[in-house]
Amino acid sequence: MDKKILAELKKKLEKEKALLKEDLLKFADKDKKLPDDYDTRFPDMGGRSSAPDESAKEVETYENLLAIEYALELRLKEVNEALKKIENNAYGYCKICNKPIELGRLKANPAAETCLLCIDKA
Ligand SMILES: [Zn+2]
Repeated sequence: MDKKILAELKKKLEKEKALLKEDLLKFADKDKKLPDDYDTRFPDMGGRSSAPDESAKEVETYENLLAIEYALELRLKEVNEALKKIENNAYGYCKICNKPIELGRLKANPAAETCLLCIDKA
């Protein structure tokens, strides 16, 4: 792959990584033992009353945040994998068929792990 394009994609990945971490830290704490693992903070809506619908709201918010945390962590993992592959000169190959991934696909999603033909097989 062209070095210039590779550098561009790497930059994109690093930027996304920083944004993902920023997003996660808004509502989650970093797990000190596991790298790139975050724990969602239980939301405290601040109310002193223990009205049941308020606690229900907190639980609902917490569950929503957990789902977001899961999605962000998953994406962070993909981005990290892609960055690792760049380091190892193994970037840009489909993990299913081992052929180079289409450049357009990588530009749209630099963390893509499969080519367009294998997208459904992953
Ligand atoms: Zn493929």
